[in-house]
Amino acid sequence: MPPPPAAPAPDDAPAPARASMPPAAAMPAPKPAGGLPPAAAKPLSAPQRAMRKLGLERDIDLVLHLPLRYEDETRVVTIGSLREGDTAQVEGVVRSAEVEGRTRRQLVVKLNDGSGDLVLRFLNFYPAQQKTLARGQRLRVRGEVRGGFLGREMVHPTFKAVEPGAPLPVALTPVYPASAQLPQAYLRKAVASALVRTPLEEILPAALLPPGLPALKEAVRLLHQPPPSTPPAVLEDRSHPAWQRLKFEELLAQQLAQAQAVAVRSRLRAPVLAGWVGAGDGPAAAAVAAAPVTRDGAPAEPAAVESPPPAPLHTRLLAALPFALTAAQQRVCAEIDADLARPLPMHRLLQGDVGSGKTVVAALAAARAIDAGWQCALMAPTEILAEQHFHKLVQWLQPLGVTVAWLSGSRKGRKRAAMIDKIASGEAALVVGTHAVIQDDVVFARLGLAIVDEQHRFGVAQRLELRHKLSDQAGQGRPGRLEAHLLTMSATPIPRTLAMTYYADLDVSTIDELPPGRTPVVTKVFADLKRLQVIERIRDEVARGRQVYWVCPLVEESEHLDLQNATATHAELAAALPDAVVGLLHGRMAAAEKAAVMAGFSAGQTAVLVATTVIEVGVDVPNASLMVVEHAERFGLAQLHQLRGRVGRGAVASVCVLLYTPPLSDTGKARLKAMADTTDGFEIARRDLHIRGPGEFMGARQSGDQLLRFADLTGDNALLEHARRVAPRLLAERPDAARAHVARWLGGRSEFLKA
Ligand code: ADP
Ligand code: MG
Repeated sequence: MPPPPAAPAPDDAPAPARASMPPAAAMPAPKPAGGLPPAAAKPLSAPQRAMRKLGLERDIDLVLHLPLRYEDETRVVTIGSLREGDTAQVEGVVRSAEVEGRTRRQLVVKLNDGSGDLVLRFLNFYPAQQKTLARGQRLRVRGEVRGGFLGREMVHPTFKAVEPGAPLPVALTPVYPASAQLPQAYLRKAVASALVRTPLEEILPAALLPPGLPALKEAVRLLHQPPPSTPPAVLEDRSHPAWQRLKFEELLAQQLAQAQAVAVRSRLRAPVLAGWVGAGDGPAAAAVAAAPVTRDGAPAEPAAVESPPPAPLHTRLLAALPFALTAAQQRVCAEIDADLARPLPMHRLLQGDVGSGKTVVAALAAARAIDAGWQCALMAPTEILAEQHFHKLVQWLQPLGVTVAWLSGSRKGRKRAAMIDKIASGEAALVVGTHAVIQDDVVFARLGLAIVDEQHRFGVAQRLELRHKLSDQAGQGRPGRLEAHLLTMSATPIPRTLAMTYYADLDVSTIDELPPGRTPVVTKVFADLKRLQVIERIRDEVARGRQVYWVCPLVEESEHLDLQNATATHAELAAALPDAVVGLLHGRMAAAEKAAVMAGFSAGQTAVLVATTVIEVGVDVPNASLMVVEHAERFGLAQLHQLRGRVGRGAVASVCVLLYTPPLSDTGKARLKAMADTTDGFEIARRDLHIRGPGEFMGARQSGDQLLRFADLTGDNALLEHARRVAPRLLAERPDAARAHVARWLGGRSEFLKA
């Protein structure tokens, strides 16, 4: 096999990069070691560290690091033919090179090729570059042509010194996803040399591939070094057969890893949470009959119940609820019950719009666990939300004789120790709290079910960690090695294809109707000029005995400013509404203080609550009928929908006012329009996905969990379907090939897919 043409190596890379990484052509091939030296060897250079950060460790990682786009350096045009706006490559000799300007120095180079002059302008430059750009040098230069003061010019073009008659590259020049510490030139050489070393044999049987696609090796070579005749459009929109082949490979790797994750889970065992052990038949059942405790762990009123409960908790809870379940709630309860009745760990996502009534579904699942003699843990992402759940569950379950324990990050010391004892002894049948619930010192006697609310706030990595912790903590002192069932809840619905791809082995239940009697919230979008009118509106609302939220935005990376903002608004509203009680709630307040403010608002004593996003999720005050969001353009769509969900929770007609400060960005406009157009959380999620793309939508891009780099779940459905069809066959017929394929594509990342 002839070595591939070396990618052209512009001379503008910083010197150290060139010293440590010889050009592809000079690299001995094949070389046994991977792209990077082992960690124990001499310390990594900055670009090497940057490569590692991008996950480019093995040769195969570099080979599968495909270009974002290409530059055409295969042709040279004359300077005389350049027109403003062209992106072109020219070749000429430097006639002069001068540093101009005293305070803002720039390097101005005049290049001539016999047909005309071109000015090259550099606003910052290194001495090494100045040497290459010196008078008399012959250069190849590529950039965008502008009409400047001195005639045609290029600002910061790419350039390199060449000998007269030096051959032009025969392939388009790839531009890779890189980072500030990782120059393109360095990455190009690293990829080109990895390509030479990597055999890229076919792993997949030809019969399983979608028809008409090139061999993997050909596809990869074409994408890294496309001949100039390749139509740029099909490279750019990734519809070229070579791209199709790569996207299929990626999707298949993911499907296989998921199938493996499902297989791993199917070997695990979990307690069967069905039936009723009755009183005196297990530690948690004993707790059912025990005296209730307050959240401080002190005994409350002497327990009235001394005799065994007359019926299972589940039955009594259903009977005691002040409402009947909706049909959708009944359906998801049945789905959850079916999972809990099997000896395999449930791993189910319960999704339902804001206010659809997920909490009661969780409570009924908890009742199943408690009836069967096991403990249940319920976790929420914020203390306020966890506290709300706690109150609701105490209100529902304590009269039925269940001990509900409270654990949060801010509870320390003896009270915490007492709670931990109750959890360890099994006396606390239900434990509610923030993630403090799964901290290392918390050990459950018999944890049968874990429920996590507002799951969308956790990335894949956190979910994985949660599962590990749950199985560690539940594992001690329990019979056999039983995993807890896991139910996660989210008000941000996830489209099916996304769920299949991101939540490896997750089953999904959906509540698709709201309880009866809700009036949809009317949403109004105003520029902040209308602020005074909005305050008038608040006055009216308060006069009618209603309550109002005013949400102040998060100021990026400044909790301090955040607070200032909220405090100033609080003062402004208090002055404007002298007859109303105006409360203030923000993230810096102590937990007890927050709880007191929230309690005042819940009880109706506070009329207007100025808050930061701490009230974003879960807060439930049915008498609140007006929600004002200031600087709404700074919030994400899912966040706005959550905030709006704080009103319209009772029978009262409610209004959500979104104030923005012009000018709006395009995405800001799209978000506010979506909010004004619809109150349907599923439609909001679709729009959000459209505005942000799958990676951002799932939070995967920021957290580095991104699982698909090339395939696009909104556009590559046919490939995804094919991958889904052939994955089980490959696993059954060629398990060795399946393993090799996953290792090639995912390497260490396949662990994520087990989450
Ligand atoms: P979310 O799904 O957003 O977590 P909640 O569980 O907080 O919603 O429920 C919102 C409100 O609706 C609560 O006050 C809850 O008690 C009430 N609710 C739940 N289910 C029903 C129902 N079937 N009929 C009437 N009200 C209900
Ligand atoms: Mg909720």
